[in-house]
Amino acid sequence: MIRECDVLIIGAGPAGCSAAIYAARGKLDTIVLDKGNPGGQIVITAEVANYPGCPDDTGPDLMKRMVKQAEDFGAKFICDEVIGVDFSGKIKIVKTPENEYHAKAVIIATGANPRKLGCPGELEFTGKGVSYCATCDADFFRDLEVFVIGGGDTAVEEGMYLTKFARKVYLVHRRDELRAAKSIQEKALKNEKMEFIWNTVVEEIKGDGVVQSIVLRNVKTGEITEYHADEDDGIIGVFPFIGVIPNSKLFEGIINMEDGYIKTNDKMETNIPGVYAAGDVRVKTLRQVVTATSDGAIASFEAEKYISDNF
Ligand code: NAP
Repeated sequence: MIRECDVLIIGAGPAGCSAAIYAARGKLDTIVLDKGNPGGQIVITAEVANYPGCPDDTGPDLMKRMVKQAEDFGAKFICDEVIGVDFSGKIKIVKTPENEYHAKAVIIATGANPRKLGCPGELEFTGKGVSYCATCDADFFRDLEVFVIGGGDTAVEEGMYLTKFARKVYLVHRRDELRAAKSIQEKALKNEKMEFIWNTVVEEIKGDGVVQSIVLRNVKTGEITEYHADEDDGIIGVFPFIGVIPNSKLFEGIINMEDGYIKTNDKMETNIPGVYAAGDVRVKTLRQVVTATSDGAIASFEAEKYISDNF
C-alpha cells in the first residue's frame, strides 16, 4: 500500500519524537516509523539523570511522555520496518515489507545499537545471562553476581544501577583507567558492591542453558581466569556496555557518512535535499537525549522550510 505524508521520520527515539512534535505542531502530516516499540535506546536506561528538568525520570517514562506529546499534536506512529529507500526523486520513497511511504521530506533518526563483544557464547547466551539492558533485566540477578563490561559512562552508570539488585558487580575494563565522566567514576569507585577488574577482556562466556562462567584474559600479562557461578546461584549475569554502532546500513552508498555515522551540517541537512538526520546516527561529539531532541527539533524546522519552498 502507498501512504503519502509531508514528513516521514524513521526511528522513534528521542530525536524522532522531538522531530515529530515539531513537525506535527507545524501542521505537517507526520508519520513516524519504528520497527519496534517507540522509545529507542533510552528505554533501556534506568535513570535519565542529566536531561534538564527530569532528574528522577526513567528512560521508559520520559519516552512515553514524548510519544504522547507527538501523538497529541497529530503525529502517527507506525510499527513497520524500513527495508529500502529511494531518495532520487523530489518525492522520497521509503519501503517496508508491505508498504511504500511517499514523503516530501525524510528525517533519519535511526539511532544506534549496542556493540557486541564478539566472543564465543555471547549470542548463544543472550537472554540467558547475557543482557544489554540493566533496566530490563537487573531484577533477574537479585542477590547474584554480575559482570559489566566496558569503562564508559554507560558501563559505569548501569553497573551502579545493578548494585541495587546484585550481590556483587564486577566491572571489567580493557584498560586501567575509566573513560566515564569523573563525577560518575568517583561514585562508582566508592561503591562497596563494585569491584574493578582492570586491563582485562572477555574471552568466552560458557554454560549449560544459562551463563555459568566467564573467561577473562588480562591483556598485560596474558593470564586467563575463569569465574564460575556460585553453586547455589547457578547463573552469573554478563552485561556488555562497550559503546554503540549507528543504524545506518540502509543508507550506505546513498548518504554521505563517516565511520558509519551520517554527515550533516548544523541544519541537520544530509547531502540529499529534503533528507535530514538527527540524533545518535549522525556525526557528532555528544550523544545524549538532550542533543538528540535538539537535533530533531532543528531537522523538523528545516524540513518545514524546505517543504514550503519546494512544494
Ligand atoms: P563509550 O563512551 O564509547 O565507551 C565504550 C567503552 O567500552 C570504553 O570504555 C571502551 O574502552 C570499551 N570498549 C569498546 N570496545 C570494546 C571491546 N571490543 N572490548 C572491551 N571494551 C570495549 O560508550 P558508552 O559508555 O555507551 O557511551 C556512549 C555515549 O553516550 C558517550 O558519548 C557517553 O558520554 C554517552 N553517555 C552519557 C551518559 C551520561 O552522561 N549520563 C550516560 C551514558 C552514555 P576504551 O575506554 O579503552 O576505549
